[in-house]
Amino acid sequence: MDKTKARIIDITVKLVPSDCGRKWTIVNIHTDQGITGYGEATYSHKETVVAEMINDLKEFIIGKDIWNTEEIYKILYTGARTGYRTGGIMFTSAISGIDQALWDIKGKILDSPVCALLGGPRNAEVPIYSHFSCSDINSMIKSAKSTLSHGFNALKSGITMHENLGPDVSKKQLDEIEEKYKILRKEIGEEIILMDDPHGIFDPSSAIKVAKTIEPYNLLFLEEPTGPEDIKAYSHIRKSTSVPIAGSERLTSKKQFNRFFENECVDIAQPDIVYIGGITEMKKVCSIAEAYQVKIAPHNTKGPVGIMAAAHVMASSPNALIQEFMSPGVIPWRNDILKNPLEIKNSCLVIEDRPGLGIEFNEKELNNRILK
Ligand SMILES: [Mg+2]
Repeated sequence: MDKTKARIIDITVKLVPSDCGRKWTIVNIHTDQGITGYGEATYSHKETVVAEMINDLKEFIIGKDIWNTEEIYKILYTGARTGYRTGGIMFTSAISGIDQALWDIKGKILDSPVCALLGGPRNAEVPIYSHFSCSDINSMIKSAKSTLSHGFNALKSGITMHENLGPDVSKKQLDEIEEKYKILRKEIGEEIILMDDPHGIFDPSSAIKVAKTIEPYNLLFLEEPTGPEDIKAYSHIRKSTSVPIAGSERLTSKKQFNRFFENECVDIAQPDIVYIGGITEMKKVCSIAEAYQVKIAPHNTKGPVGIMAAAHVMASSPNALIQEFMSPGVIPWRNDILKNPLEIKNSCLVIEDRPGLGIEFNEKELNNRILK
């Protein structure tokens, strides 16, 4: 056996329902040298579609050299019978699951964490944040304090969009946003890092009103103030407020992000390791962002594999800011399915010096949760 000559012989997909409505789409690549790797392709509420896309892509990569992730990405993203450059976000999610699994295999063969292969250290701590709900003031404070009790010092919510589907914002809604932030800051203090995500619902003038309202409350960023299709609107909003603007989890290629950066749309880029097409493409987004002095705050609502894949890119990127992370309070059994549990220390996710992505499943616990 020569592990350095490993070639792909099969790809399998497992769906694991999580407690937050998503089915973690776990991709497993098998090689002729006995080494296997994990990737994640979860696209919320379309998981079975993505799983079938991965099955369809098998014929194009069976027999390929596992080391050549650039070539495999190119085949999958641009090929006339694969992505055809028009595959969309579910297609890039399928590509991503495959790409991550190949990097996991590389790390396992070389006995190196993926972050070290990408130019980072062998172990690291990646700053993370989690969420709180904001339906009314009392439950909002309770929810924020509950998340903080799990070891976080950074929190995000959707205060600016609560019960508003956009694109407008009323004076009454602006007053409610202001009232919530005033009380929240009083209750949790000035040191806790806060972020807000209105999920792109506002038109530009409403987004600017919202941004102006939250300016006094020292947010790390306002995420997706408007839809990412409208590059000029993003840029206009960013120039109209002192609140740093972040976006967008919905972009699916380095070229889309490059257009965002060229047009000065964001202070902070939020690639999702799954939607962007994997480690190969996300690393390039981070490097392009670095050239524009844009920081990285990955969108991440994934299972353990997708969490760690994004964290390894973050650990190797000089412009890494903070990564999204579903609180253990939301999925209390998440660590039960892992041989090496995800560890949170000082509001950071710990990357240990382990081969590949550092994920090994407790197969018995995992099998109990797989969608049959
Ligand atoms: Mg978001």
